[in-house]
Amino acid sequence: MSASSAIGASGLGSSPAHTDQKPTALEQCVARVKLAVKQVQWSHLSCSITLEAAKYPVVTNCNHLFDGAAIQEWMSQSRDPKCPLCRTDLTVVTPLEELQESDEGRLSKLLQLNEPQIATLSCLDTSLRQIQDGEIQEAINTLELCKPEILDVSSLVVGLKFQFCPSSENVELAMACALKQENPDDRIFIYQQVIAHASCRLDAYQELILLTKDPKEKRALRLQAADLARDAGKFELETSFRKEAEIPLVSTVISKDEWAAAATINLRIRLI
Ligand SMILES: [Zn+2]
Repeated sequence: MSASSAIGASGLGSSPAHTDQKPTALEQCVARVKLAVKQVQWSHLSCSITLEAAKYPVVTNCNHLFDGAAIQEWMSQSRDPKCPLCRTDLTVVTPLEELQESDEGRLSKLLQLNEPQIATLSCLDTSLRQIQDGEIQEAINTLELCKPEILDVSSLVVGLKFQFCPSSENVELAMACALKQENPDDRIFIYQQVIAHASCRLDAYQELILLTKDPKEKRALRLQAADLARDAGKFELETSFRKEAEIPLVSTVISKDEWAAAATINLRIRLI
């Protein structure tokens, strides 16, 4: 297999496969912990071509690490590409993610983790097992042992608290915690947890819609939010969600008051 076809087969830069089955709130927590493992393992990996953090780290057959896009660009410039570091013929380029599953030994040599990183990874590993065994409080305690300079676990802790106590107090705490997150993935995770446990929180929907990049997903969220706004009698909000999702307003009119509200909304839609 040629180096370029190895990259192509790995689906470089492609989005994960879409499934109809939506993950549960707990499954989202598990996925978030797994992502945190990668975050810790990859945070210090820099590409020898770009000299920046490798966004999509890949490993060559000569065990050198580069950013996927950078090495692909490098290989496209030559018929017989060689490693920019050691001049070995490039035959296979493997995404680090795949190596993780198939070759732990090779991976640990490549990563060269320091002590706090290893300690944090061990906490993540233990908490993952605890979550999967339904020991949520224990998992939270374990996560809180992670080294803060290596990983901010606040979003994970907030998300896990919902699993055994989706109280309104925890919803408020989560909404406040989301605003403090620097990483958009952490904010998305928290809002997903809020709407999974408190679907009435249209403000969480609004934030999540803003943060969501995939247009299909964005539209699906707007439609869900519009239905919830209708159920809550918030016609203006329903209209704005539907308008943004480019779907005409379909309102079931029952009472006189609702008719008046719906008539105004329909008029507004025609005027827009
Ligand atoms: Zn090399």
